[in-house]
Amino acid sequence: MSKKLSQPNCKSADSLKISIPIGILKVSSCEEGIHSLSFEKFQISFSKEVQTPTEKKFRPDSLPKICWKGICKPNTFSERVLKTLLNQVHFGQTISYKNLASLSGNERSQRAVGTVMRRNPICLLIPCHRVINSNNKIGNYTGGVEIKKWLLDFESEKGEYF
Ligand SMILES: [Zn+2]
Repeated sequence: MSKKLSQPNCKSADSLKISIPIGILKVSSCEEGIHSLSFEKFQISFSKEVQTPTEKKFRPDSLPKICWKGICKPNTFSERVLKTLLNQVHFGQTISYKNLASLSGNERSQRAVGTVMRRNPICLLIPCHRVINSNNKIGNYTGGVEIKKWLLDFESEKGEYF
């Protein structure tokens, strides 16, 4: 789903597949953290009624570490956009491309934000599915608009971290 990026400072990137209730995820990481996360398969038929674990709250600070140097150049607009999205747009929230551009320090770069979202190597964890059009239309999603819609519906129903 994402372009292969160069990993100049990473010793070895490993990959594995994880089966989750809504499909199969492909994860690639090095010793320092995650490089990529993408859907290998998505099952839209998954019921939202399935119990989600409550003892372990899913919060940004408890997420696996990301190997930033493996996914983008430091001090670039891309890095600011991805970090802003990761740290400021939480479960159940959405943000427009325009506002994300503005929060990342350049309000005129909403088209560039769109490009960064398209190339986001770590789906779900860096929540590009929460970035929508200013007119509240859902916008695009690399994995398919169907997945994006499902994720947003799911999050708005849960309404809090899970
Ligand atoms: Zn790495």
